[in-house]
Amino acid sequence: MNVLVFNNVYKKFCQKDEEIDVLDNISFDVKEGEIVAIVGPSGSGKSTILNLISKLINPTSGEIQVKGKIGYMFQRDCLFEWKTIFKNIILGLEIQKNKDEKNLKRVNRMIEEYGLKDFTNAFPNQLSGGMRQRVALIRTLAVNPDILLLDEPFAALDYQTKLKVSNDIYEIIKKENKTTIMVTHDITEAISMADKIIVLSKRPAHVIEKIDIDINETSPIKKRQNEKFQKYFEKLWNVINVE
Ligand code: ADP
Ligand code: MG
Repeated sequence: MNVLVFNNVYKKFCQKDEEIDVLDNISFDVKEGEIVAIVGPSGSGKSTILNLISKLINPTSGEIQVKGKIGYMFQRDCLFEWKTIFKNIILGLEIQKNKDEKNLKRVNRMIEEYGLKDFTNAFPNQLSGGMRQRVALIRTLAVNPDILLLDEPFAALDYQTKLKVSNDIYEIIKKENKTTIMVTHDITEAISMADKIIVLSKRPAHVIEKIDIDINETSPIKKRQNEKFQKYFEKLWNVINVE
């Protein structure tokens, strides 16, 4: 079942008296439970796609169908430094006035399951970059969204941390069984996490190719070590460099 459909979507922005074409006829769909990666160069319109999905902005033309509630994890983790980890995690629930027993129970389960139990009273600056990302993800999941949007979730991390954190985040997404749309400019990150990759051209972005990824391993690190990984890398590299 499709939970998200983009049908011939165009987006222009008006800046001063200038019009900039950002999205040029984008179509794709996302099935329930799928992890889809959107890759493309900086400035191609990836964040714009997530902003459209979450209805922060409207398309210039075309149709967007979204089934279910959206959870959006922005490019920066946006943790409040003066609030404890627990307070940060329940922020969304407080804003939505949804701090009921059922939601708090789910939050506490995630805190325990994903290794944050000893840090609930700590402040964000006491945590490593990787742990901060985990906190940001659990905060996003606290409101129990149906579709998770991740905007370059690992961009600020050093290489080794990034590999480790992508494993953690993947585990959480899979366990919580969330449909996920992840934006990245790193094709190896996309191959190691996604079921399907949508490759965008530079601005104005059109879809160059959609590639299904089928690597039968349980984690991003293991996928990176599978012989199929290099094949997908070559395929994507060629697709990107033909344009
Ligand atoms: P990406 O996430 O792929 O790096 P973005 O979606 O952030 O790219 O931006 C694509 C283009 O759209 C950029 O040229 C950016 O300057 C422009 N843009 C994004 N949001 C706005 C906005 N609200 N108003 C005007 N221009 C915008
Ligand atoms: Mg962006």
